This record gives sequence, C-alpha cells and structure tokens, in this order.
Amino acid sequence: MTIFPKLHEGFRICDSPGEVGIDLVMSSITGIADLMKYLDENGIKVIHFDWSGFVNGESRLFVIIDTRNYKKPKENILRELKSVSRAITEAEFSPVVNGKLIYTRSLFPLLVSQSRGIILPVEVAEGMFEIFKDHFGDDMGTSMLYHLGYAVGVRFYERLLKPLEPNSLEELIQLLDAHLISLGIGVMKDYYIEVDDKLWLRFERVWECESLKGKVNKPAGHTSRGMLSGIFEGYLDHRVVVSETECLVLGYDACKFEVTYLK
Ligand SMILES: [Zn+2]
Repeated sequence: MTIFPKLHEGFRICDSPGEVGIDLVMSSITGIADLMKYLDENGIKVIHFDWSGFVNGESRLFVIIDTRNYKKPKENILRELKSVSRAITEAEFSPVVNGKLIYTRSLFPLLVSQSRGIILPVEVAEGMFEIFKDHFGDDMGTSMLYHLGYAVGVRFYERLLKPLEPNSLEELIQLLDAHLISLGIGVMKDYYIEVDDKLWLRFERVWECESLKGKVNKPAGHTSRGMLSGIFEGYLDHRVVVSETECLVLGYDACKFEVTYLK
C-alpha cells in the first residue's frame, strides 16, 4: 500500500545549493495560484509548501524551491514574485543555518484542534521509555507510563471529545479515530461493541509499540492503554479496565485493546 505521509517541516536540511526558502505574506488566496504559476513558468520546482491560513485578512506562506533552472540572480525572484501578484505583499528569503538548514520563523505557534500544539519526533519522545525503566524498574516504569497516558486521556476526553457532544459510544469511537489519525498517534483498524459491558478496538501503527518493536516481548502500549481508560471513563462516567491483548511487538498487524466496565 502506498502511504502519503503528512509532512510537517518547519525546516529542511537542503540537498543542493539551489534550494532556497522564501517567506511570503499574502492578502488573498489567489496569491497561491499566482505564486505557483510564476514558479512553474520559470522552471522552479516546489520542494515544500506550508501556510498559516488567514488571520485578519493575511496569510503567511513558507516555500522551499529548487532554483537550479533559474538563470538570473536569486534575488530577482523576490522582486518578480511581488510584481506577478497583487496578493503577494511581502517576500523575503527564509533564514539559513550552517549553510544547509532552511527554516521559517513566520509559522508559529502550531495549532492542533484549536489549541496550541507541540510536536516531538517519536525518536526523541521514546527516551521516556528508557528513563522510566532505568530509574524505576520495569513494573514501576510501566505503571508510570500508564498513569501518564491516563492523565492525558482524561483531558483528551474533556477538552477535545466532550465538546463535540458524542451521542453514542459508537460516535465517541469515531471521533476518537478522527483525532488519533489527524494527530499522528495511530490508525484505528476496527472495533466491536459487545452489548453493555465490553468493547474492543484495534489500532495500527501505535507509536509507542512501533518504537519498542524488537526491544520488548510483551504488549507495549502502556500510555495508549492509560489514555483509552481516561477517555472511556470520562464518557461512561464509570471505572473501566483496559488491557492490550494483541500487540505489534508480538507480531500482530495491530494492537487490540479490550475495554471492560468495572461492575
Ligand atoms: Zn501494542
């Protein structure tokens, strides 16, 4: 299956000296069409494109382009961009560090589901697995990861899901699926609600299990388990137990979480 990952690149390490970043200010959506037409007509390839959306009638764009086929001095691009479109009101080169890292300072902060978001690459965040295990031992480390997930799950429900007023357990699960995939946390594969006292959900690409694959030999979705507990307890207003009965690290294609209501 071909995958189409969403790129979040506030910066990029450039591959060639022809790569240039440009920060633009645009007063209308037509600026995007004018920009792309200009780049296309001048044989300039777009490597990356990101924008802020409109705030008070203005939007900021960050584009990284490959200027190898542009024979005039690169500075001309800024002037030409402003002349090809009335919608483009400002254009300047993005900062470069170390001669190769191009980034933008104009797209900040990040907004995720209407609230400020921060992004940690998994290869950085997974440090917490090691630190919890090394400092507190396997059982205590696992328990701390669970409680960390639980605390997140409680707020996840209260602040992201509850305001959307799910009308049923099924609708709650669908809202959860939409959030998890858009936040890059995991992909729901399927679920089953057994009447009244039990349900299960299966997720592919659970980030923590994926990063622990090959390193542990038991289900590894501890923060996910905690998070689901916090979410379902919030919705049901009732204690639940969540156990991970199948996991990527054990060779399954998805992680299966069983949610049981505590009587
Ligand atoms: Zn798992």
